[in-house]
Amino acid sequence: MLNENIAAISTALSASGVAVIRISGDSPLSIAQKMFTPVGKTGVADFEPYKMYVGEIHADGFNDFGMCVYFKAPKSFTGEDIVEFHCHGGIAITKGILKKIISLGARLATNGEFTKRAFMNGKLSLSSAEGLIDMINSESESGVKAGYYLYREKLTNEINALQDMITDVLSQVDADMDFPEEDLEQTSTLAVQETLTEVIERIESLLKTYRLGRTLKNGVSVGICGKPNTGKSSLLNALLDYDKAIVSDVAGTTRDIVEGSIEINGVRFNFSDTAGIRESGDKVEELGVVLSKKVVDQSDLILLVLDGSNLTEDDEQIYELVKDKNLLVAVNKTDIVVKKDNRADIYVSALKKDNLDNLKKLIYDKTVGIGLDLNGDFLCEERHFSALVRAKEKLVCALNGIGQVPLDILAIDVKDGWDALGEISGRTATEDIINNIFSKFCVGK
Ligand code: GDP
Repeated sequence: MLNENIAAISTALSASGVAVIRISGDSPLSIAQKMFTPVGKTGVADFEPYKMYVGEIHADGFNDFGMCVYFKAPKSFTGEDIVEFHCHGGIAITKGILKKIISLGARLATNGEFTKRAFMNGKLSLSSAEGLIDMINSESESGVKAGYYLYREKLTNEINALQDMITDVLSQVDADMDFPEEDLEQTSTLAVQETLTEVIERIESLLKTYRLGRTLKNGVSVGICGKPNTGKSSLLNALLDYDKAIVSDVAGTTRDIVEGSIEINGVRFNFSDTAGIRESGDKVEELGVVLSKKVVDQSDLILLVLDGSNLTEDDEQIYELVKDKNLLVAVNKTDIVVKKDNRADIYVSALKKDNLDNLKKLIYDKTVGIGLDLNGDFLCEERHFSALVRAKEKLVCALNGIGQVPLDILAIDVKDGWDALGEISGRTATEDIINNIFSKFCVGK
């Protein structure tokens, strides 16, 4: 099958030391031949694959001096012939080189088109491609790890193994289907039950990792609440280490949600500082109160800040509102007074930045958990989770149906389970699913 040459700038479009422009398709080398003059004796047509050649890159209206490398199909990222130009990383330079490539007959690549071609050519599975985009988009170490698990085909390998087991079940059922009583023979019943049970258990253990995996990918949400003036904004600033929230001693200054993120042990934590939860006659502040109730409902952890120098009935009312949530109570302003409070998990001073490392540790322990290996295998994509849930439903149905329903009906459930699993690796993914995944990629990947 012929594939037209596509091209894109593969590095970020900004001033930088080096940039990479990539062409993939049937004949990228013939384009390179028309716009690259090597310094050495070897002509472009005779380039050895995977070797860097220095020379002059003839762009649209100017020249740059850089390198050219040829990847020969099928041993390339896309599985097609690829040529890369490594040029100086200026915006005008990269655009000029790309323009030249397009004028020589290549088409501008669409979002994720290189990776889509890699998928189509069997170089990686769909979940691996998703892991790749997760890694690229990730802003935290744990997000990179979650993406890498997918990218390196660990999930796909497990899914393929489960599909192979289901295939065995299907052939067993098929073999017995010719019997007039339309039921499994006793020996196959046992084998089928055992296999289906194992597949379901392995799906369940994957499903259990989803909550944490999603958290590792997207970050943990922490809602900071408390009555006005307890030091919520100051504490957020101290944690973020810069003055994002407005701090003042007029009660009710923080009227909108103020957000900021930090990394603790490689995991991203997204904080939302709220207006104090209290009734107010002020319209703007009322809006803040509504927003803060929303934050309370949607956060993985509530950080309730009490003012140690001013504990009142209002604190108790707010405490009653949030006490059933995943809650951490910090008593602030220990630089002025250290008053013991039986609701407190920790005592801090936002002003003096006192005890903040222990506060961070507590925040981590109360959300991610204690003693977890973040290099472990976690599901982090909603799409994979829902496919596994559907697969499990179908396989449980089949398991319960043994001896109760005709074999052909049983086989339909088993096959549906197989299909649902196949969506993860891409073996049974529809065109829509595939297009939707690659549309999230940037151009050039
Ligand atoms: P919020 O309304 O809960 O967001 O409170 P702010 O962060 O705006 O702080 C209210 C007042 O308390 C400000 O004057 C802060 O400087 C002061 N404050 C905040 N944290 C501390 C602290 O740890 N010690 C002392 N002494 N004052 C603090």
